[in-house]
Amino acid sequence: VIEIKHLNKSFGNNEVLRDVNFSVSKGEVVCLIGSSGSGKSTLLRCINLLETPTAGDIIYNGTNILNDQHDIKRYRTHLGMVFQQFNLFDNHNVLSNCIIGQQKVLKRTKEEAKRNALNYLSVVGMEKYVNAKPRQLSGGQKQRVAIARALSMDPEVMLFDEPTSALDPEMVGEVLKVMRKLADEGRTMLIVTHEMEFAREVSDRIVFMDKGVIVEEGPPEQVLVNPSQERTKEFLKRTL
Ligand code: ATP
Ligand code: MG
Repeated sequence: VIEIKHLNKSFGNNEVLRDVNFSVSKGEVVCLIGSSGSGKSTLLRCINLLETPTAGDIIYNGTNILNDQHDIKRYRTHLGMVFQQFNLFDNHNVLSNCIIGQQKVLKRTKEEAKRNALNYLSVVGMEKYVNAKPRQLSGGQKQRVAIARALSMDPEVMLFDEPTSALDPEMVGEVLKVMRKLADEGRTMLIVTHEMEFAREVSDRIVFMDKGVIVEEGPPEQVLVNPSQERTKEFLKRTL
């Protein structure tokens, strides 16, 4: 679905991503791991063009989306993004949060958008909270709404940037459970996470990044249990 080729990203003199190459196939769950500052968020932000890569190609279903002719807005509708900090609209209730984008961006009717939103709110177990405002919800509940909102846009790929790291420990489980369910349904997902146990269970592939380069990638049992690279071993020693 997505193929990244020779991607580079610099902020001034700071080379944050260097010759990053990897791809995500349809139905695949890929977890991106690595220490703080290694460039994981920057990579996700480049993929949905919240950042403009300095060099390289991003191929989406065979089309290079970095050439000028490409409709970036349209491309973005194929990606569902879930951030660490929820980013819900605070003055809108739960249902409205899940409807706005569908109406504005996808031009769906209110009825259609509502039906779709209610379906995904029940997938994440938040259907009883349609009228609640974000401030009335716990962190875990907010994140589940954020996931439902992203799903409501019917994206082809879901991108998650540390969706549980801003949560109190007792709420991490409920969000991971929802993500596990999506993975089991065969959704295409790219997940930045520090939850190694979760990564091991859900991933088809793990990608380990360090200082802006992909050091190692492969099935979880290989990368997490029998890493071939010294840097991967050191990282795992520090996190486990
Ligand atoms: P963490 O696990 O802490 O989230 P990360 O792997 O997501 O880390 P990034 O946020 O991608 O790391 O940051 C990688 C590097 O890019 C850091 O050195 C950071 O200072 C730099 N960086 C990120 N965004 C910007 C920006 N908008 N302007 C300048 N430098 C940036
Ligand atoms: Mg980050």
